[in-house]
Amino acid sequence: MTRGTFTIAGGGPVGSLLAIVLARHGYRVGLYEGRPDSRMTNIYQGRSINIALSDRGWHSLQQIGVGPDAKDQAIPMYRRAIHDVDGALSEIPYGKEDQAIWSVSRGGINQQLLDIAEDEPDVETFFEHRLVDVDFETAAALFRLGDTEVTVEADYLFGADGASSKVRRLAHDLPRFSYSQNYMPQSYIELNIPANADGSHRLEKNALHIWPRKDFMLIALPNPDGTFTCTLFMNHSGDPSFESLRERDAVERFFGDNFGDAMDHLEDPVDTFMAKTASPLFLVQVFPWSFNNKVGLIGDAAHAIVPFYGQGMNCGFEDCAELNRLIAQHDHDWTKIFPAYENARKPNGDAIAELSKRNFVEMSDLSGDKRFQLQKKIEAKFHDAHPELWTPLYSMVTFSPEVPYAEALRVGDEQKAVMDRIMQLPDIENTWNEQHVMDRLHELAAARFGDRQ
Ligand SMILES: Cc1cc2nc3c(=O)[nH]c(=O)nc-3n(C[C@H](O)[C@H](O)[C@H](O)COP(=O)(O)OP(=O)(O)OC[C@H]3O[C@@H](n4cnc5c(N)ncnc54)[C@H](O)[C@@H]3O)c2cc1C
Repeated sequence: MTRGTFTIAGGGPVGSLLAIVLARHGYRVGLYEGRPDSRMTNIYQGRSINIALSDRGWHSLQQIGVGPDAKDQAIPMYRRAIHDVDGALSEIPYGKEDQAIWSVSRGGINQQLLDIAEDEPDVETFFEHRLVDVDFETAAALFRLGDTEVTVEADYLFGADGASSKVRRLAHDLPRFSYSQNYMPQSYIELNIPANADGSHRLEKNALHIWPRKDFMLIALPNPDGTFTCTLFMNHSGDPSFESLRERDAVERFFGDNFGDAMDHLEDPVDTFMAKTASPLFLVQVFPWSFNNKVGLIGDAAHAIVPFYGQGMNCGFEDCAELNRLIAQHDHDWTKIFPAYENARKPNGDAIAELSKRNFVEMSDLSGDKRFQLQKKIEAKFHDAHPELWTPLYSMVTFSPEVPYAEALRVGDEQKAVMDRIMQLPDIENTWNEQHVMDRLHELAAARFGDRQ
C-alpha cells in the first residue's frame, strides 16, 4: 500500500536523503535532478570538493537508518592547524581528544545517498530534469528535459534544489511570503594541494589547515587520495580583494607575502586565481517553508547559509531527521507535519545562519587575537572541571546534536556575557590559571546555568 506520492526537485545530498526517508515511510517518490547523473558523467571536473560533516550530520543519518558507509571514507580532523604568516605552525583541538569533524567528499556522499535511495523500490530517479514551474495548489510540477517539457503530478512536492532554489523563487509570488537575501563581503575560489608522489598527504592529514589573515583566509581539507581541497575566502571588493588583485605580479606578491609556506604545496595558485571567477557567498532566509500543506522547502533551498561553521549540509540532514520523526508522530497527517516541521526548523535555520556569519571573524583571526585565544583556554579548562555547567559554543554546535542550534546560540550569548566579565579581571593574562579565576567563573556560571542541569 502506498501512503501517497511525492515529487522531490533536486537530487543533491538533502534531496537524496529525503527520498530515502519518504520511501521508508511508505511513499512513492520521484526524485528529479537538473544535472546529469554524477555517477555516469563527471560533473565535478575531476576534483573532489570536500566539506566537513560533524556529529549532527552523522547523528541525523543514523536516526534515519543510513549506515556508516560514508564514514569509512571520511577523514577525521581532530584539530585546526594554524599557519602563521611567518610559517609558524600551531594547533587548536576542536574538542576533547577523540572528538573530530570529518572531511567528506560532497560528490561522494551525494552518490552514496543516491545509490541508497535507488535501492528503495519506491524511489525512481530522473536526471537532466530541471524544474521550471510548480502549481502550489496541487503540487504538480513542470520539468524541462532538453527541448521537451514534462508535467509530473504528485500528492506533495519538496524543493530540495539548493541555495538558488527555483521552487523558492516561484514561491515569491505567493501571498505573505517573507524573503531576504544578503551577500557577504567575501567571495571564494577553490585551489588544490596535490598528493606526494607516493600518494601521501603533504600536510598533516588529520587537521583542518587554516591560514588566518584577518580580512581573508585560506583553508585546506584533506581528501582520501592524498590531495587537499583548499578554499580562499576574501572580500569581493576593497583592498585586497578579488576585484583589486587583477595583475599577475600583484597576485604573485599576494600569495608570496601571505601564504609563503603554502606556496611550496599549492598547485598553480596564481594561474588558478587569475583564471577563476570567485563565487559569491550569500544567506537566504524565508518563511514559510511550506505552502498549502502541499509543497515544502528543505536543505539549502530553505536556508542558504555561509560555510564558516561547516554546518550547511549538517543542517539539511537535520531537516530530514526532523521530518522522519514528525511523519511518525503525526501519523502521516501532512496538515500537521508541514506546520510542525517549519516551526521546529525555522528558528534553528536562523540560528545557524547567524552563528555561521559570526564565525568568519573567529576563524580568520585565529592567530591574531591573543585575548580571544586566552578566553578559549579558560573556557576549555572550566568545561573540563564543570561539564554540567559549561559546554563551549563550538562544541554545542558541532558535537552536541541534542542541543538545537537556537539553544546553542542563546546559551553562547549568555556565556559571552559571563566571559566578558572574567576577561575584565585584573591581570587576567597572567593569572588566568589561578584558582580564583575558576572560582569566580564558577560563581557566575552557577548563577546563570546552575538550575539547568
Ligand atoms: C564553499 C562551501 C563550503 C561548504 N562547506 C560545508 C561544510 O564544511 N559542511 C557542511 O555541512 N556544509 C558545507 N557547505 C554547504 C553544503 O554544501 C550545502 O549545505 C549542501 O550541499 C546542501 O545540500 P542540498 O541538497 O540542500 O543542496 P545542493 O547540494 O545545492 O543540491 C541541490 C541540487 O538541486 C539541483 N537543482 C537545482 N536547481 C534545480 C532545478 N530547477 N530542478 C532540478 N534540480 C535542481 C542541483 O543540481 C543540485 O544537485 C559548504 C558550501 C560551500 C559553498
